[in-house]
Amino acid sequence: MNSTLKSSAMRGGKVWLIGAGPGDTELLTLKAVRALAEADVVLIDDLANRDVLVHAKPDVRVIEVGKRGGCKSTPQAFIEKLMVRLAKAGATVARVKGGDPFVFGRGGEEMLALRAAGIGYEIVPGITSGMAVPASIGIPVTHRDFSRGVTFVTGHSAAAEPKWAALAQSGTTLVIYMGVANLPRIQAALIAAGMPSDLPACAIQNGTRSDARCIISTLGSLHDDVAAASIGSPAIMVIGEVVSLANAQVLACQTQVAA
Ligand code: SAH
Repeated sequence: MNSTLKSSAMRGGKVWLIGAGPGDTELLTLKAVRALAEADVVLIDDLANRDVLVHAKPDVRVIEVGKRGGCKSTPQAFIEKLMVRLAKAGATVARVKGGDPFVFGRGGEEMLALRAAGIGYEIVPGITSGMAVPASIGIPVTHRDFSRGVTFVTGHSAAAEPKWAALAQSGTTLVIYMGVANLPRIQAALIAAGMPSDLPACAIQNGTRSDARCIISTLGSLHDDVAAASIGSPAIMVIGEVVSLANAQVLACQTQVAA
């Protein structure tokens, strides 16, 4: 154990990197509940449901580090420095993120920053929206008869564009995070690579929450239908035969499901 880790451990400083799940607070793990109850400070992302804070101490300090709510995105480097500073001062920190911290959650970067600073940390996996949100309307991301695999991919890639042509050929269900803004491009690339335009596809906004909305469509019409239903971020898109299993009667998005 290096000296920084020893001193922060001696004073009890530690960071829990917690996945809060997709929105429904009952999808929190027991470990996440325990970690929240131990925290002196909570750093919470905007995607995480604020209702999870009922599990924290009444006098917990809550720091919002999200992108919405009128303020600009908190720079990642600032969040990392803040976590390190708080833990070094002896605080037990709960870093709460939507879904799973390691699935498009920048949890990997935060873990490396903690490791580099010699801070003790623990990862609490969460239920990622990519599987829970489709499940909430009856879509299994894999099914023996329809799809032998699933690809979780971001539609918003700062560095490199995903290889849409290769994904179109993969035969797996495509679950696209953060894809609404780039949907026309994604749709065109997948169809150009041979995916049938009548392949079932859907978009679900605020999945597992009381304000969930969704649209069941086809790959070729997805963008038009998403625009017509005004579906915006945060939304998960699912492309593949498994979408045909969606339960059109589910209350969560009944009003938006095409007949
Ligand atoms: N770590 C998160 C993903 C963060 S990236 C996880 O594991 O789920 C943010 C993206 O997640 C959003 O743009 C959206 O694509 C997706 N997302 C998260 N929660 C969602 C929800 N309740 N409904 C629909 N999409 C959601």
